[in-house]
Amino acid sequence: MAKVKVLIEGYAHEGNGCYEATSTTVLIEDSGKKIIVDPGCNEELLLQALKGEGLTPKDIDLIFLTHYHIDHVLNIRLFPGKDILDGNIIYRGDKEFSFKEKIPGTNIEIIETPGHAHEHTTPLVKTEKGIIAIAEDLWWWEDEKQKTDKKSLLSLKDPFVKDEAALLKSRKIIIEKADFIIPGHGKMFKVEK
Ligand SMILES: [Zn+2]
Repeated sequence: MAKVKVLIEGYAHEGNGCYEATSTTVLIEDSGKKIIVDPGCNEELLLQALKGEGLTPKDIDLIFLTHYHIDHVLNIRLFPGKDILDGNIIYRGDKEFSFKEKIPGTNIEIIETPGHAHEHTTPLVKTEKGIIAIAEDLWWWEDEKQKTDKKSLLSLKDPFVKDEAALLKSRKIIIEKADFIIPGHGKMFKVEK
């Protein structure tokens, strides 16, 4: 069974004279591989969180990106030389290797979840607790209270949405498949069945 650990709970809010945001960053251990999902953009927090697990960037095998927004992506610069994956391609320098459905060498399923961004995908990880969807920006909150009943989840406004109908469809698919959902900015929650 795979293990999932939230290394950084993403945040997004008005800060000191500017907007402050970093994505949720997750460590998956599956089939002997250590995979980071969405390394975010807060370098210090990420290095500290890795240290807390007894790890450095060198110990990570793969970096998976759910979509290309900078607040989810910028810290790939902490992992020089590592393979970077999106939902269907492994990037190794200028080499591209395409894949389908699962991250190669793992049991992690990848679901296409467009809407917030056209390229958005969601890893589904089978763990002892159940299926965890690392859904990132299918749902995200500023500092307000998270409402996670099904109706609220389906109607949550996304000011950055690219395709509203696609987002709704993606949300329905993930609610159906997941036992727990990890949002892009906010806390992991259990799906009401
Ligand atoms: Zn985003």
